[in-house]
Amino acid sequence: MTQILTQDFARHRIRVHGIVQGVGFRPFVYNLAIKNGLTGFVTNNSHGVEIQIEGDSHSVTAFMQQLEAEPPPLAIITKLTVDHLNLNHDQSFEIISSHRESNITTLISPDVAVCRDCLTELFNPTDRRFQYPFINCTNCGPRYTIIESIPYDRPFTSMRNFKMCPDCQAEYDNPSDRRFHAQPNACPECGPHIWLIDRNGNSMTGGSEITTVVDNLRAGMIVAIKGLGGFHLAVNASDTNAVDRLRKRKNREAKPLAVMFPNLEKTRQYVTINPDEAELLVSYQSPIVLCKKSGPRHVNELVAPGNNRLGVILPYTPLHHLILHEFDGPLVMTSANLSDEPICIENDEALHRLANIADLFLLHNRDIYLRSDDSVFVHINGKNRPVRRSRGFVPRPIFLSGSGPSVLAVGGDLKNTVCLTAQERAFMSQHIGDMENLESSQFFQRTIDHLERVLEIEPELIVHDLHPGYFTTQWAQKQHLQTLGVQHHHAHLAACMTEHGLDEPVIGIIADGTGYGTDGTIWGGEILMGDYTRFERFGHLENMLLPGGDAAIKAPWRTATAYLYQAFNGKNIPVDLIKKWNYQLIFEMLETKTNTAQTSSTGRLFDAVAALCGICPEIRYEGQAAIELMQACTTTDVPPFTFGIKSEGPAKILCVRPLMRDIALALMEGAGSIEISNRFHRTLIEWFLKSAKLARQASGINTVVLSGGVFQNEVILAGLIPVLERNKFCVYSHIQVPTNDGGLSLGQAMIGRKYLETLKEEG
Ligand code: ZN
Ligand code: ZN
Ligand code: FE
Repeated sequence: MTQILTQDFARHRIRVHGIVQGVGFRPFVYNLAIKNGLTGFVTNNSHGVEIQIEGDSHSVTAFMQQLEAEPPPLAIITKLTVDHLNLNHDQSFEIISSHRESNITTLISPDVAVCRDCLTELFNPTDRRFQYPFINCTNCGPRYTIIESIPYDRPFTSMRNFKMCPDCQAEYDNPSDRRFHAQPNACPECGPHIWLIDRNGNSMTGGSEITTVVDNLRAGMIVAIKGLGGFHLAVNASDTNAVDRLRKRKNREAKPLAVMFPNLEKTRQYVTINPDEAELLVSYQSPIVLCKKSGPRHVNELVAPGNNRLGVILPYTPLHHLILHEFDGPLVMTSANLSDEPICIENDEALHRLANIADLFLLHNRDIYLRSDDSVFVHINGKNRPVRRSRGFVPRPIFLSGSGPSVLAVGGDLKNTVCLTAQERAFMSQHIGDMENLESSQFFQRTIDHLERVLEIEPELIVHDLHPGYFTTQWAQKQHLQTLGVQHHHAHLAACMTEHGLDEPVIGIIADGTGYGTDGTIWGGEILMGDYTRFERFGHLENMLLPGGDAAIKAPWRTATAYLYQAFNGKNIPVDLIKKWNYQLIFEMLETKTNTAQTSSTGRLFDAVAALCGICPEIRYEGQAAIELMQACTTTDVPPFTFGIKSEGPAKILCVRPLMRDIALALMEGAGSIEISNRFHRTLIEWFLKSAKLARQASGINTVVLSGGVFQNEVILAGLIPVLERNKFCVYSHIQVPTNDGGLSLGQAMIGRKYLETLKEEG
């Protein structure tokens, strides 16, 4: 009799790999086991989660199916192995608490937007957390930004100052509760709270803080709001004066500002949102998405002047929901900082640094340990693509195709991120920003220290850019570790290879602003061939002289003048096109070769063409000329300009001068900026296609990666991918990390890893 019974019973050991720790996986398994009447246990170990279940075969099968089909929202299962064991005749199912494991890297989750369950409670007047701005559970709330050290337990977070009340503790201890082991668990009785301070430092009491904030926003005031990864500055997006005042005070003339809407439906009145964009907007990462302006309603023009896209974001903390629910309209929500400085995170720091910007401050006492800006995405050619990978994504790893030594890559000096590798994972930091001031460099150092500590990674090598003048390069060389310099565009190529798990040599079309070349000139329009260990500069945009590096970047008319001069070899220049500028100054600089530098940059070519058409002779934020030239484009179904490619020694040169002559002639004949933009974009697409074909002919390589900041240009990216594919290339572009310099550190890290492996092989 017993014999027959045991045959219908089974015991399985299931090992689950992936992102399964700190995401509510064990309580999920517990509840699933109870539901199916199974006994056994679940525990965390160094590989992920181990489960042993025992019960009748039918229930075991049901358990297995549900485990894979409906894991907790934050979990990602990458591998699942099952062994059959002998029966153990357990009496119950247990969660066995884990001892601290040496490999703890999977434990840290990104910050997560407030979940549906918590939102329902937030707006339920009978709930004990009704309107409580810090409501959270196992499936949502702050993580990365409040963790000081590991393991991820309350005493090691900024929640340590708050002792849970008996009700909260009971939830925390109950495996079947949604708040089982939710480290930031809190309620109005025991948790953090908010308060208001005016710009003179006086606290504003009486009435609801939320109502006071909303009244002030309606009155056109600028409110500093402490959020998840830092402070925001909020103003009424429909109030021209308020937005204007914010821009002046923040010293941010024209760069687009992001707008937070109460919900998706309201957002659709201002921008078009496709299904992919909608999914991203309501995701737990809750990034800013750059959507096309359209629809019956418009935010005022000052929010994103001259831009056909608007950065939109939905409320992602309970506090946002409370404010937006009551305000019920679009709010500008921009990082609270002076231009180019890192976002504020501390109360005192905010009161001090934002004293001349904000009219009032909505503060709270849950400390932010590590700042993290909002992430930014744009949908191009059927895919959501990161422009800035930060809050909600960090420190979730990029999975690599294999294991290897640990390295630290420090990125570049613009849009900086850093990257640490451990086994088959690459951990990229949040957006750190431009290394232009003391605050940024301190933030850079702090982020590295923090990542190394919480991930317990000790790198063997530091990888940096080749640029000798970069802060990041100099920092790397000061550390007491082996270093490796990597060429900027090689790192771009490797970044794109890495995120797609490519290992064979590829053709890289790297269209970029500025990167230091191996020959000391400034590169940026590169046709490379290579892999992680080596690269060859197969071709590049013709070198052009740039008058006064930084001055030219800020004033595209200078580049336009210089390129026109060179296009006509200094003779019979159609000066009519440039007479409105001080062109003689530039001519003189070129003739005497004073303060000039050689560049093959695609970004500078965009600047030159834009300025010649009268678009942005001067720019007010980085990339403005290229963006506005792109937005002038209406179609690429037009004849291209001349796009010659000639051989010069072993290299192919994409000839810029004949192109510039062509454009000048078209302008002389009365072409407008739209026509020039259309034909110029078509030219670049044809040029890159032809370059890829030449590279394939020479090498037999059929895989193309597209990287570099210029591929944020949707006309180029969405135009080039299909024509390359029609020509039977396998094409890869960025979807996990930014195509701009924010993705650089990932490529550097992989190159560093292969370098170490090669060194070890050579022994
Ligand atoms: Zn929740
Ligand atoms: Zn409580
Ligand atoms: Fe770059």
